[in-house]
Amino acid sequence: MKKITETFSPEETFALGEKTGREAEPGSLIALIGDLGVGKTVFTQGVAAGLGITEPVSSPTFTILQIYEEGRLPFYHFDVYRIGDPQEMEEIGYEDYFFGEGLCMVEWANLIEELLPRDCTRITIEKDPDRGFDYRRITVESLAE
Ligand code: ADP
Ligand code: MG
Repeated sequence: MKKITETFSPEETFALGEKTGREAEPGSLIALIGDLGVGKTVFTQGVAAGLGITEPVSSPTFTILQIYEEGRLPFYHFDVYRIGDPQEMEEIGYEDYFFGEGLCMVEWANLIEELLPRDCTRITIEKDPDRGFDYRRITVESLAE
């Protein structure tokens, strides 16, 4: 499956995340790909809201992993931007989360490509300067039909 959605504000990207969070199945992983400032965290905040998480979700850049337990599913929010090499993921015990029963969200997933489960959902967010400052193209790809 490949689906492209265009958004024109942070609120629309948040709303798409919210829908994704409402529909997420236990044990799934979303690989989020896109440059700095493109909206990965905005989307993630929407997902958290869709899961029923009320506590604020920020970018866990300095902690790599933030865990939220209050929603419909456990929510594991990774931001691997500062990962030096995949060995650091081993030290965190990433497999417990990647292959657990919650929903796993990985910002900058392209940096740990070799660790991603084959059946993960890939979401790529891109800007297009010709379409305006707040325009984003969000491509969702998964093995599911
Ligand atoms: P990332 O996590 O990818 O580094 P953030 O989500 O932290 O990026 O920041 C995205 C920034 O872009 C926010 O300041 C947000 O308000 C802004 N923005 C503007 N338009 C959009 C849009 N359509 N979708 C998401 N964010 C947008
Ligand atoms: Mg971020």
